[in-house]
Amino acid sequence: MQSCESSGDSANDPLSRGLRRRGQPRVVVIGAGLAGLAAAKALLEQGFTDVTVLEASTCIGGRVQSVKLGHATFELGATWIHGSHGNPIYHLAEANGLLEETTDGERSVGRISLYSKNGVACYLTNRGHRIPKDVVEEFSDLYNEVYNLTQEFFRHGKPVNAESQNSVGVFTREEVRNRIRDDPDDPEATKCLKLAMIQQYLKVESCESSSHSMDDVSLSAFGEWTEIPGAHHIIPSGFIRVVELLAEGIPAHVIQLGKPVRCVHWDQASARPRGPEIEPWGEGDHNLDAGEGGQGGEEPRGDGRDEDEQWPVLVECEDCEVIPADHVIVTVSLGVLKRQYTSFFRPGLPTEKVAAIHRLGIGTTDKIFLEFEEPFWGPECNSIQFVWEDEAESGTLTYPPELWYRKICGFDVLYPPERYGHVLSGWICGEEALVMEKCDDEAVAEICTEMLRQFTGNPNIPKPRRILRSAWGSNPYFRGSYSYTQVGSSGADVEKLAKPLPYTESSKLAQGSSSKQQPGHLLSSKCSEQSLDPNRGSIKPMQVLFSGEATHRKYYSTTHGALLSGQREAARLIEMYQDLFQQGT
Ligand SMILES: Cc1cc2nc3c(=O)[nH]c(=O)nc-3n(C[C@H](O)[C@H](O)[C@H](O)COP(=O)(O)OP(=O)(O)OC[C@H]3O[C@@H](n4cnc5c(N)ncnc54)[C@H](O)[C@@H]3O)c2cc1C
Repeated sequence: MQSCESSGDSANDPLSRGLRRRGQPRVVVIGAGLAGLAAAKALLEQGFTDVTVLEASTCIGGRVQSVKLGHATFELGATWIHGSHGNPIYHLAEANGLLEETTDGERSVGRISLYSKNGVACYLTNRGHRIPKDVVEEFSDLYNEVYNLTQEFFRHGKPVNAESQNSVGVFTREEVRNRIRDDPDDPEATKCLKLAMIQQYLKVESCESSSHSMDDVSLSAFGEWTEIPGAHHIIPSGFIRVVELLAEGIPAHVIQLGKPVRCVHWDQASARPRGPEIEPWGEGDHNLDAGEGGQGGEEPRGDGRDEDEQWPVLVECEDCEVIPADHVIVTVSLGVLKRQYTSFFRPGLPTEKVAAIHRLGIGTTDKIFLEFEEPFWGPECNSIQFVWEDEAESGTLTYPPELWYRKICGFDVLYPPERYGHVLSGWICGEEALVMEKCDDEAVAEICTEMLRQFTGNPNIPKPRRILRSAWGSNPYFRGSYSYTQVGSSGADVEKLAKPLPYTESSKLAQGSSSKQQPGHLLSSKCSEQSLDPNRGSIKPMQVLFSGEATHRKYYSTTHGALLSGQREAARLIEMYQDLFQQGT
């Protein structure tokens, strides 16, 4: 276990010396998910001691939420460690003995995997028929071929044609449909089944992307998301163990739970002396569409600084406490930013960042766990997939609210039963997931049972004895499950989202690069009017930094992306102070 004071205080490098002699900057991290904890931990390990993490909910972990029921742990959020080689989550879990021994043959390998160690996926139609295995396999191969084509637009700069509307869903549906229709060998009935399977696969894909529909996902940007090589793993004792391991290095007093932040008042030095803004702000680079006026606040705390000293940022909490800071790392989800950016930042965010928040996408993917007294599925069945035959010609994945259940793509069998009991885990995404969230447990259990009866053709399936489900979309601290590059957005928007405020000409400050500064200046000559010296009273750099899964260009939507983004923002600050103290010595 790492002490937060030790590494910095005992070391004699310029950073440690500087932090000792020239004082500690105060860093407030908003959110105790993987990004926030990783950022705090990295700062503490480098000798920053004035670090506070403010978390709205009453527990750490954010979108990692493991629920223990009996002997088993069920993941309402992150489940899989996606890839191993170079995946920091994998290495943390592996080093701490959290992973099960598995052989290559046992590991789940594919995106849409038909086989796993506990058997084969059963594709059933709404008329109660099982689609023959060879038809499923042929369709799966065809679909995966087209999936590979979707990657080429980004990876090989292939131009996107107008018919696809730059949409993964539109392109895939059309391409797969054409290939099915053009196949001279398939009888008409097989073609119909394969055509109906497209929508089912696209529902699964939307759940994986956490989009309402793959029609919303940008074709030209899709291939930028990068898969880490190696097997996918679960953590039998719960994904939350990874979060707990990260938090072990952080002293308890650093993390304040149940402490929602209402507003980040930044740019204080350039605005007016002390106290949060009350009037609408902003000029020049700052966006003026920042909604209603800011909340009044208390005088900043003294904390040993001069009376006249200006804190660049004031963090106003829902309980009205105002915490002054030099830097704030915001890790809240893109969903929260979309919903709250107008009131969450004073002054408002720059137009470019607002546009990126609008362009990027985040939707809801929810899970539904059903526990049965006895399994009604065979030992060889690893999942039940719902194929609606009447959707063969559908051009959309949107349903009227009363048909929300049509968006459930299927149920996986949780394996092994000795650990989980007889439990099915279902997936639903998009607007229909939000409708599901509004229903009560009884109604959801009822409707899921009806579907299972209809698709298996077995009217005697009993109702589950227990139901557990997530509600990521309506939770005010998440407002969605994870991000994706929506049609009209690209990786450049992810960069814009990640760019620290205030914006500066200096690539060093904006990008955290290691360009060298001119002697005699605290910072590079390009931002010579900006100063880290509080007494100079001008704009201070990197007041607000952004991390969280949605800010990672290649690994957005994942736990490793979240963790790396937190470390990235900590590194920006560490590097800035390193350079600053180097200049000062
Ligand atoms: C259903 C589902 C399945 C997933 N499956 C996987 C998977 O298998 N593998 C994988 O790698 N990833 C998966 N993910 C994604 C992964 O969980 C996330 O990418 C990651 O956990 C995000 O971490 P984060 O720190 O960026 O954000 P978060 O975990 O959202 O942390 C942000 C924190 O900020 C807090 N907060 C919000 N508003 C405020 C406020 N006003 N004041 C203070 N605090 C606030 C929130 O409470 C939260 O704790 C899944 C996610 C979901 C929802």
